[in-house]
Amino acid sequence: MAFYDSDVSVMIDSATVEARVRELGVQIARDYQGKDLTLIGILKGSVFFTTDLARAIDLPLTVEFLGVSSYQGGTETTGEVRITSDLTKPMAGKHLLIVEDIIDTGLTMKFLLENLSARHPASLKICTLLEKPSRARTTVPIDYKGFVIEDKFVVGYGLDFDEVYRNLPFIGVMKGK
Ligand code: 5GP
Repeated sequence: MAFYDSDVSVMIDSATVEARVRELGVQIARDYQGKDLTLIGILKGSVFFTTDLARAIDLPLTVEFLGVSSYQGGTETTGEVRITSDLTKPMAGKHLLIVEDIIDTGLTMKFLLENLSARHPASLKICTLLEKPSRARTTVPIDYKGFVIEDKFVVGYGLDFDEVYRNLPFIGVMKGK
C-alpha cells in the first residue's frame, strides 16, 4: 500500500501522462526546428512536467525556472500574482515557451504573458499539462495542452496539496474534495 492510497484516487495514470508528454515533445520539436528554444518552467508545480518535457524534445534547448505565487482571497485566487524567483538572464530575442502545470482561472498565465512579453522575446507561447476550462476567468491562448479536465482539485506529477503529493507519478484527485 502506497502512502497516498487512502487520500488520493487516480484521474490520469502515469503511462497516459508519459505518453502525452512524449507526444507534446515531438510536436514542439517539429515546431521549433532551427530556433533558439527556451523552456520557462513555472515553480514549483511544473518542475516534474518541465524536466520530462525537456527530455522529450529532440532539439538543443535551454531550461529556465520562474517562481510565482498568487495571492489567495479565501479559496479563490485574487488574480494578483507576485514573482518569488525571477529569471537570471535577459530573454530578449529568445523563443520562449512557458511550461505550466495547470491553467485554472487563467489569471496567473495572463500575468506571465504580460510580464514575459515586456522582456521582448522573439516569440512567446504556452504549454500546459492541464486545463480546467470551466473555471476560466480570462482567455489565454494555449498553444500546447496535455489534458482538459473537469473542475476537480488535482494533485501529483508536480501538483501539491499543502506542499505534499508532488511526487506522485500520476494525476490524482483528493478523495472527499
Ligand atoms: P490560475 O491563476 O490559472 O487560477 O491558477 C494557476 C495555479 O493555481 C496553478 O499553477 C496551480 O498552482 C494552482 N492550481 C489550480 N488548480 C489546481 C488544482 O486542481 N490542484 C493544484 N494542486 N493546484 C491548482
